[in-house]
Amino acid sequence: MRILIFGPPGSGKGTRARLISRLLKIPVITTGDMLRDEVSRGTEIGLKAKEYMDRGELVPDELVIRLVEERLHRPDCSGGFILDGFPRNLRQAEALDRILGEMGMELDLVLNVVVDPEIVVERLSLRRWCPKCGAIYNLKYDPPKVDEICDECGARLIQRSDDREEVVRRRLRVYEEQTKPVLELYIERGLVREIRGDIPIEEIPREVEEVLKPYLERD
Ligand code: AMP
Repeated sequence: MRILIFGPPGSGKGTRARLISRLLKIPVITTGDMLRDEVSRGTEIGLKAKEYMDRGELVPDELVIRLVEERLHRPDCSGGFILDGFPRNLRQAEALDRILGEMGMELDLVLNVVVDPEIVVERLSLRRWCPKCGAIYNLKYDPPKVDEICDECGARLIQRSDDREEVVRRRLRVYEEQTKPVLELYIERGLVREIRGDIPIEEIPREVEEVLKPYLERD
């Protein structure tokens, strides 16, 4: 299956994307993680991307499109993938149409995680992220077993610098202005299913399985 997942920052789309990835055995492609990796390795793309990310703005399209195009051509994507964080604006959506068209692929499903923006600001202040494997925790609702240490790989967890409140508010504005129109496009194509971002963490797997069921039965 080829899936996109949408939702404002802090909606829990990353958690759901990882769950779906495990469930369907398809890779999750998270542009935010890919960009953070470029930044930490100090690559040319990373050096350019950092200033935009620190401000909570979108990184220039050419850079992100190049990363995603290269990633989608790797063999592990041939059986499907879940894209988290891309496309973020209409130019990126056009680029994705072109890339998939050239590869003879079509999207199966677009998930939209719906959550009240005010919940997001609190949630993100409590979010911790594993820079090594990308696992996500919430200090109040989903803490790691050992303080500040990733359950999955043992690395030390960090708070992302763009999870500070003023940057979160900018990211929410960017989402409303630039990413919502992309969602409209996929609604018109009849691809969008909504999932709720405000349910307790233990209910997430059941909801995800529910929404994927018709597609799993079809295959
Ligand atoms: P995220 O982890 O998805 O919240 O992304 C963190 C930051 O990475 C965003 O605020 C942007 O600066 C950048 N970013 C991630 N994905 C994209 C994208 N598709 N296009 C442009 N910038 C992106």
